[in-house]
Formats: sequence, C-alpha cells, structure tokens
Amino acid sequence: RMKEKWAATLPKFPPTSLALQHFDATYSVQLGQLWPSVRIALLSERKYGALLNTFSHDAVLEDLQAKGCRDFITDTDTEALPCLDPESVVGVEGESNDVPVKKSNADRHLKISPKIKCLVFPRGDITRFKPARPDTQRLLGYYLLDAASVLPCLALDIQEGHIVLDLCAAPGGKAVALLQTQAIGFLCLNDTSVSRTLRLKKVLHSYIPKELLTSKNLRITSSDGTKWGEIENNTFDRVLVDVPCTTDRHSVMEDDNNIFSKNRIGERRRLPQLQLELLLAGIEAACPGGEIMYSTCTLSHIQNQSVVEQAIHLAQENHGIILEVVDLRPLTHMFRKTFHFAPNLHLGEMVIPHLGANFGPIYMCKLRRLT
Ligand code: SAM
Repeated sequence: RMKEKWAATLPKFPPTSLALQHFDATYSVQLGQLWPSVRIALLSERKYGALLNTFSHDAVLEDLQAKGCRDFITDTDTEALPCLDPESVVGVEGESNDVPVKKSNADRHLKISPKIKCLVFPRGDITRFKPARPDTQRLLGYYLLDAASVLPCLALDIQEGHIVLDLCAAPGGKAVALLQTQAIGFLCLNDTSVSRTLRLKKVLHSYIPKELLTSKNLRITSSDGTKWGEIENNTFDRVLVDVPCTTDRHSVMEDDNNIFSKNRIGERRRLPQLQLELLLAGIEAACPGGEIMYSTCTLSHIQNQSVVEQAIHLAQENHGIILEVVDLRPLTHMFRKTFHFAPNLHLGEMVIPHLGANFGPIYMCKLRRLT
C-alpha cells in the first residue's frame, strides 16, 4: 500500500479538480444540456468490454456468455437504417478558407469483420470482468478495454491482404483488435515512446501466436509519427491515428500521470498541434483510395472536429491531397443499443459516457483519400 501524501505536500488544486474545472467551463458550452449527465457518468466507474482473443484455445466466449455477457458486435439491431441522403456535400464550419468536404455515403452497408468479438455485460450492469487467464499456449483469452474503443477498429473496415499502419499503437488494445480480423497482409505498429513500445510488444506476445509475429507480417517501430509521411508516403490501405489527448476520464479520476498537472501545461496546450501533425502524417502515409481513422478519448471539439477540419484543409493546401469524410451513421445505427452517441455531430461520431452504458468518450472520424 502507498502511504498517503502529507497534507502539506498535496497540491492545493489537484490535477483532477483542475481537469473538472476546465471541462465544466468548456463542455457545458459545447454539450449544453447533455453535460450534467455526461459529467456524472465521467465521474462514475467506467464499464469495460472483453475483446475476445480468437487465437486463444479456451472456451472463453461460452464462459462469458454463461455469466450474462453478450457480444455487442454480432448482437446488433438489424432494423434498416432510415434513408440517408444519397450523397451530400457539406461545408466545414469555421473559417472562410475551409475546403468543402465531400461526405460519402458509400458505406451504407458497412462490412463488419465477423472475427472481432467484444463482450459486455447488459445495460446498467456494472459487473467487473475477472483478469484473463493464459491458455495452454500461454495466450490470454480476452483483452479488457473500453468497448467503445473497438468501434474505430471496426469502422476501419480491414479487408483481406490490406497493408495497415497504426501510428500511435501502444499499449496495443486496438492493434490486438485489428489483428483479430486475421485479414491483414502487413501491419506496421509505431509509438514514439520506447517504454510504451515495450509494453506493446508484451501485449502482442500475450495475445497473438508467435508465428504471426514475424518480420514477414509485422514491423514495430518507435519513431516520431509526425514525420512518418516524409519517410513512407502513399503506401498504406488503412491508417489508424489514435492520438494522445486529454484522456478525459483519466483526467477527472486519477491524479497520477495527469495531463492537467501544473508541470504539464505546455504539453497539454501543444496537444491539438501534435494531433494535427499526426493526422496529416497518417493522411500522407495512406495510399490514394486508402482510408484513415482519426480517434481520441476526449470530448473536446478542439482536439476532435477542429483537428480533422484543419487536416482536411492542409492536406489539400500543402500536399494536393483531396479527402472525403466517410459517413459512419450506419455504424452508430448498428450499435445504438450498446452505446450513447452524441447527436448531430458535424464531423465524425462520438460515444458519450452515460450512467446506463458507461463507455467512452471515444471520438472517431474516418477519411478517404480521393487523390
Ligand atoms: N492505440 C493505442 C491503443 O489502442 O492501445 C493507444 C494510443 S494512446 C491514445 C496515444 C499514444 O500516442 C501514446 O502511446 C503515445 O506514446 C503516442 N504518441 C505520442 N506522441 C507521438 C508521436 N509523435 N508519434 C507517435 N506516437 C506518439
């Protein structure tokens, strides 16, 4: 047990209080009347999902189902999606130099990998999962994560033989999800932090059979992702850009490693610029026709929609790359029984915390390179 800090050394305003003050000021404006209910969920125990490891030999699925869990991915509402506009061109909010964004509706019939499975307890049930146990091959049966963070992986729509880049990959939850598709031709996993890259490697060895972790199908690097486009551009079919952010839930709950602590003010202020540079690098790394998923675990408009808007503008301005925003409404419609989605987001989709289904926040926006 850790000894409690002496009152004299405790900060007058702990980072969790500073975070909550900041969120009260910004999110009450951004989310309006939704904020009080999101706030109470954010301050309550979060809900996990168990991402099933289909490489494990244990009968984990049956075991979890017997405990009352369901796979939210296969157990969806099949009711047809109400008619969407055939194809719409939407203007980007904000500055006059913004480029109009073509919003594609081509993914109305979203293909979801049948291999990714994530189990959750029913709505309102906050039973905790036990830690996963290793099977005879020493592979763990499931990975515990915020179930909403599987959504960007599903929406990325990995197809057989795809070359995939996960630009900010550690500790590896989404990489494990992507690998469950068993369709990836070659996977590049990168994270600038050397210590977190080590953790990523450990996670991979706990979930993925050794024969799939060879240099024939996998490369793991610890580079600065913002420079990726300069080295390897026009290459990847799919790019995941899961950026560092204010991790809102952590920021209001844990004082340790909190981005709202006084000595991290500069780092926090630089986040939107870092996120923009990472997204632009991911866009450059994708091939024409390739798709890029931008995701965060914050509710912040400045770190979400604003970053995407600027990236679309700068990709065209500086690199001549034209992008369309992929409509993810088929996905939100499909999973509306499991998650609460923010209504009427101008760009992308967002799972917002709710006491009955305390997942998120997870923001995601998918872009497709037209050139
Ligand atoms: N995708 C991961 C997962 O599902 O487990 C979580 C990624 S976390 C939200 C963001 C990661 O970005 C951190 O591990 C951090 O080390 C990494 N990061 C921060 N700056 C970076 C940079 N310039 N290039 C690459 N990765 C960076």
